[in-house]
Amino acid sequence: MAHQRSRPRAEWQEQLATGVRDVREIPGLTEEQYQRLEAIAEEYPFFTTPYYLSLIENWDASDPIFLQQMPDAREFENPSFLEDDPLDEEDDMPVPHLTHRYPDRVLFVVTHTCAMYCRFCTRKRKVGKNPVPRPEELQRAIDYIAEHEEIRDVLLSGGDPLTLTDSALEWIISRLRAIPHVELIRIGSKIPCVNPERITPELCEMLARYHPFYLNTHFNHPRELTPEAVRACGLLVDHGIPVGCQTVLLRGVNDDPEVMKELMHALLKARVKPYYIYQADLVKGTDYFRTSVQKGLEIIESLQGHTTGFGVPTFVIDAPGGGGKIPVTPDRIVSLTDDAITLRNFEGGVYEYPAHGYSRDHADGDAVSQNGDPEASRAYPIYD
Ligand SMILES: *Cc1c(COP(=O)(O)O)cnc(C)c1O
Ligand code: SF4
Repeated sequence: MAHQRSRPRAEWQEQLATGVRDVREIPGLTEEQYQRLEAIAEEYPFFTTPYYLSLIENWDASDPIFLQQMPDAREFENPSFLEDDPLDEEDDMPVPHLTHRYPDRVLFVVTHTCAMYCRFCTRKRKVGKNPVPRPEELQRAIDYIAEHEEIRDVLLSGGDPLTLTDSALEWIISRLRAIPHVELIRIGSKIPCVNPERITPELCEMLARYHPFYLNTHFNHPRELTPEAVRACGLLVDHGIPVGCQTVLLRGVNDDPEVMKELMHALLKARVKPYYIYQADLVKGTDYFRTSVQKGLEIIESLQGHTTGFGVPTFVIDAPGGGGKIPVTPDRIVSLTDDAITLRNFEGGVYEYPAHGYSRDHADGDAVSQNGDPEASRAYPIYD
């Protein structure tokens, strides 16, 4: 007596099935405003989960959670220096869906779907629009990785890889794990922030079969660290998966040292290691989120020395034109000569330390050490 009963949807599937994609669900706008937002959503898809909507406190752009997920009339305000693909990701693709920019690691776009379309997304040009890569395209990327022994680290990205089913993900990950020179596999995923119920024990157990496996997630505001999100991150960590966080510096969301400090503390309490803070990329449709670079430096200054060392992420600018991520650090060096380095600490105090190393004090004559070598310091004329 074989009768098929459809299984009840899991909570995370329910979130996707009942997600919001109609701008008319934003209350209180005029007909003209709705039409403008509809035109924007036509160009840049709108989709969000009931869960992430429930974190909104004020239904307008003054609310950091509203701002990140709701289409905004300013998405069509584009100064001429903005581009669809400012990081030249498409140019660095030897095969479709794979960006090979750094010699030893690759970014593998395994889907273009997300559980929520961040209005500030760097891949705004294609998320929610391009078709899902077909298995034979994914296989071609996997073959490329297998043929390139210098690739030791594979970053699964998208879109959001965790919008794939466990079995689709395992299809990819198990093939990567079978490649002897692939040391690390990692995922970049916003899911713990926007659909945390997706982090199930079954998913974590599957990922843990392919260790060393890492996950970088994406929180931008302390209010996103709800009990559900904290549970999701904790479950990953319980399965031995180190969880990091990549935060985007966003005007009106977290461009404030106090908010950022609160976010970093909330992440640490959730056992998540702050990894990067990104300066906004020069992406069309996202300019209203862009802050000054000085704001990012001010935030790092407010964290370094003032809070837990491993709670301070690296502030990076992803260089336009495909230069990769470049760390931008508050200048701690007051002066550097062959004899001494003068440093500024977190409170503005100035301290000195001998610049030369062991060899100069212990060998005779023109002892050469890396630190004491006058030629070495001449390579950094900025400190003369
Ligand atoms: C960010 C990125 C990586 C990974 O960089 P890490 O600094 O190692 O996290 C790899 N490839 C591309 C194209 C990237 O943008
Ligand atoms: S989840 Fe990531 S890829 Fe998807 S829209 Fe947000 S930033 Fe872009």
